Amino acid sequence: MTDKPNLLDFDLKKLESYFVEIGEKSFRAEQILKWIYHQGVIEFNYMTNLSKELRARLKDNAVIKLPEIIAHQQSSDGTQKWLIQIDNHNSVETVFIPEDDRGTLCISSQVGCPLDCKFCSTAQQGFNRNLTTGEIIAQVWLANKALGYFKNNKRIITNIVFMGMGEPLLNYDNVLKAINLLTDDFAFGLARRRVTVSTSGIVPEIDRLKEESNVSLAISLHASNDELRSNIVPINRSYPLDKLLAACKRYTQARDNDPVTIEYVMLRDINDSLEDARELARCLRDFPAKVNLIPFNSFPGTHYSCSDIETINAFREILIKSGIITVTRKTRGDDIDAACGQLVGKVSARSIRHQKSQIGIT
Ligand code: SAH
Repeated sequence: MTDKPNLLDFDLKKLESYFVEIGEKSFRAEQILKWIYHQGVIEFNYMTNLSKELRARLKDNAVIKLPEIIAHQQSSDGTQKWLIQIDNHNSVETVFIPEDDRGTLCISSQVGCPLDCKFCSTAQQGFNRNLTTGEIIAQVWLANKALGYFKNNKRIITNIVFMGMGEPLLNYDNVLKAINLLTDDFAFGLARRRVTVSTSGIVPEIDRLKEESNVSLAISLHASNDELRSNIVPINRSYPLDKLLAACKRYTQARDNDPVTIEYVMLRDINDSLEDARELARCLRDFPAKVNLIPFNSFPGTHYSCSDIETINAFREILIKSGIITVTRKTRGDDIDAACGQLVGKVSARSIRHQKSQIGIT
C-alpha cells in the first residue's frame, strides 16, 4: 500500500498548498496541472519544465494514479460507455453522448448510490463508497484520451453532467474539487454553465454549491406532490418539495436567473396524468426552470413501465402552454445499457442501511 498523495486528488488550491508544504514554489501547481490536463502527461519524467531534482522528488513522494478502463462499448447511435475499475472490488460507468452541437460526458460520483429511488437501477446495486476527486476527474481524463483530445487538442467533450452513478451532493467536497478542475483554465477549462450537477435534492448542499461554485443545476424532481415524491424519491422525506423548490429559487437568483433543469421520468400511471402536469407547472411558477421529460428506461426486476408517447406529448403540451420550456429527452445508448438510470458498474458491498444511518437519511 502506498500512502503517497495522488496528485489527481488536488485542485489548483490544494496543489499549491502541497508544493508550499514541500518547500517548492506554488506556481509548480499550474505547471503540473497543464501537463496532466492539457498535454495528457502523467509521468513526472516527461514534465520537462520541472528541474530533474524536482521530478525525482515528486517520483519519490507522490503519484499520478489513474484507474483502468476494463470494458468499452459503443452504441449504434454513437454513444460510448466505459467501465472503469477503481479498486479491486468496484467499478463505475462513464458515458459519452455525441450530439450535433456538443459532446456530453456523463460521469459518476459514487460507487453505487445510497439513495433508494424506486425507478433507478443504480439504486438496486446498493452503495459502497464515495469516489475520490481523482477517481471523478480520471473519468474525464480517460474519456478525453480515448477520444483523442490530448493528441489533437480539439475539444470533443464540451459538457459534463454529474448524472452517472451516485448522488454528487452526498460527496460534496470531492465533487467540488473535481468541478474546480473541470473549470480551471490550467486543467480542463470548461465554462461553468457547461458543467451540470444533478441532484435528487440535498437542500443544504444545493445552497453550498450556490455559494462555492457557479455550475448549472439539475433537479431530479419526478413528482409534483410530497406524497408521491416521498414514495418514489425517498430523500423527499428529509427535504420536502417546498424546501427543495425554495432552494431552486435561491439558486437561480444567485445565477442571474439562469434556469434550473427539472428532470422528470415518465412512469406509466404513476406520475404522468394531466393533473400531474398541471401540478408540476404550479411547482415551477416561482423560478425559471426548463423541464426534461425522461422516458423511463427499463431494467430487469422493475415493476415500472414507461408512459406511452401520446401521454408524454400531452404532458409536455400542458407545461409548454404554461410557459415552461419542455423537451422530451432522447433516449441514447439504451442498446448498451448506457441510458439514464441504467448505469450499474460493479458495486461490491451492499450497505444501504448502514450508509443511510451515517448520512442521516430517514
Ligand atoms: N443522484 C443524482 C444523479 C443521477 S442522475 C440525481 O438523482 O439527480 C440520473 C438521472 O436519471 C436522474 O434524474 C434519475 O432520476 C434518472 N433516472 C434514474 N433511473 C431512471 C430510469 N430507469 N429511467 C430514466 N431515468 C432514470
